[in-house]
Amino acid sequence: MSTIADNLKRVNDRIAAACARAGRDPEGVRLIAVSKKQPVSAIEQALAAGHRDFGENYVQEAEAKARAIASGGVRWHIIGHLQRNKVRHVVPFATMIHTVDSARLADEAAKRAGEAGRRVGVLVQVNVGGEEQKSGTAEQDALALVDHVRTLDALDLRGLMTMPPFLPPEEVRPYFAALRRLRETMESRRPGLRLPELSMGMSGDFEAAIEEGATIVRVGTAIFGERP
Ligand SMILES: *Cc1c(COP(=O)(O)O)cnc(C)c1O
Repeated sequence: MSTIADNLKRVNDRIAAACARAGRDPEGVRLIAVSKKQPVSAIEQALAAGHRDFGENYVQEAEAKARAIASGGVRWHIIGHLQRNKVRHVVPFATMIHTVDSARLADEAAKRAGEAGRRVGVLVQVNVGGEEQKSGTAEQDALALVDHVRTLDALDLRGLMTMPPFLPPEEVRPYFAALRRLRETMESRRPGLRLPELSMGMSGDFEAAIEEGATIVRVGTAIFGERP
């Protein structure tokens, strides 16, 4: 078994254990292997181990990898901050864009998805930590953005994403809980609104995120090792 296959198994086992602790079905948690800055060969090793969901941060790199890895069934997740003028490059191949943080970005994604004749999954990124330098919409503006995204037929709004402050797991936990509560508040204020996905948790804290309700965890280092 390659190291990457080994690491994937270990991470999947830890996900299963966190689900067991939380009384959750492991089927309800999707692991995204964050392959940013990793070579195509690393992605191929993960593919060979049966993994299909990959996360990329940088548009050019994501595009090049999507082109290099033409094998069917790969699901690309855009998890990095996205500039409006770059959206058209990712819409043709992205399964899900996790980082929709403004109405203008959503409009552009919808326009490009319409042109490409496809519907793209999106998450609204919320800055639950309220950190100045972090992207994501402010918590108090998030419902307005959700309302807007729902009007765009070419986008399939699936839920919320957050990138909390970089802290030890027990200190980030309240931010994960805050995203879950925000989702609950939104669903109760908008009857009929469903936001099933919560994308939160990385190598250092995915277990805490799962215990707080994550349905998508984005794990890089624990699968691929340190980034070159
Ligand atoms: C890089 C990155 C990750 C993965 O980080 P690791 O600590 O390597 O697991 C997850 N989410 C986002 C948004 C990232 O940029």
